[in-house]
Amino acid sequence: MSIYEKCYSFKRAEEAIKMDMYPYFTPIQEVYGNKVKVNGKEMIMVGSNNYLGLLDHPEVMKAAQAAVDKYGVATCGSRFLNGTLDIHVKLEERLSGFMKKEAALTFSTGFQTNQGVISTLVGKGESVITDKMDHASIIDACRLSYGDVYKFAHNDLNDLERVLSSLEKETGKLIVVDGVFSMEGDLANLPGIVELKKKYDCVLMVDDAHGIGVMGDHGRGTAEHFGVENESDLIMGTFSKSLAALGGFIVGEKKAISYIKHHARSLIFSASITPASVATVLATLDIIEREPERRENLWKITQKMKSGFQNMGYDTGPTETPIIPVMIGDDMKAFMLWRFLRDEGIFTNPVIYPAVPHGQALIRTSYSATHSEEELDIVLKGFEKCGKMLGVLK
Ligand code: PMP
Repeated sequence: MSIYEKCYSFKRAEEAIKMDMYPYFTPIQEVYGNKVKVNGKEMIMVGSNNYLGLLDHPEVMKAAQAAVDKYGVATCGSRFLNGTLDIHVKLEERLSGFMKKEAALTFSTGFQTNQGVISTLVGKGESVITDKMDHASIIDACRLSYGDVYKFAHNDLNDLERVLSSLEKETGKLIVVDGVFSMEGDLANLPGIVELKKKYDCVLMVDDAHGIGVMGDHGRGTAEHFGVENESDLIMGTFSKSLAALGGFIVGEKKAISYIKHHARSLIFSASITPASVATVLATLDIIEREPERRENLWKITQKMKSGFQNMGYDTGPTETPIIPVMIGDDMKAFMLWRFLRDEGIFTNPVIYPAVPHGQALIRTSYSATHSEEELDIVLKGFEKCGKMLGVLK
């Protein structure tokens, strides 16, 4: 049988497209602030990770354009060989300073960062321990490592201790958790995890893709929020969210970062971050440090939307962040709600298994520091109208 057999029999996407119920790979024709144009129609975006609203900030765009003028549009090579620009080095120095860690290393995506760091650090005879709801890039990274892989029940410290206590005392152990869980917006119990990592002598890595820029008094993320930065040995972040670019980074102890730099295959065998993205991140870091009011506004917006949804009767799950899920349960109902919202000009993301457990489908909404009151009120009204049409609200 041909290996293409599964492709020929894969019909679900085609069927959904025919029914006009296909929510993925939507081509966005134009972007202006928190509004986008899709199919010629304006929509309010509440499905982006542009948390600080920096993706079209004039200062950031100017910095990206200046980098294109100076270095061109690509690097055409890996960091290891011809693809290290002086601004890559500058960005790593800037990131280690911003995050208050000894050293930083950048990768071309957040996905590659997790892949490179975890598969490099966890060798044969060693163990990696992850939360069941960790991001796909962490799961895939574990598959690539030569170590033993263990999972614990989501945010369950007893279950984490069950795993840790079953491992050989002398074995090298890496615990990896998301700081902010990307679908439901809840936080890892970092203080509890830190206690256990000390008790069982582990290294702790926090994937803070959704926490950097958002959490903590200075935007250093979930570890800052909980006051456990020193105990969070490795902090990973991505540039694709608050930092409004493309790429990822890891910060930590100098020796560990140097080892990763000289062994991580996703770094060495892949082209480096484009000049425009590097310059973008340098500019967004300046703004994040200069304008804490952006983060403050994001939290006000988060409060407004969370209580707005809850007052209508929606369940917003365990979120503690600007990622606000509207819990629906049934896959088909989630798709219907997404479709009604789309017709109201509201861009959201329906999330079903395997991104969330079976039967826990949700509409993921997420907010930006620059959403206007007017835009947010339209979104709330739309959710009320569509929820009633669908019968998920009274
Ligand atoms: N980790 C988490 C928790 C994420 O949500 C994401 C992106 N959705 C990534 C890693 C990967 O980041 P990137 O988009 O930069 O590849």
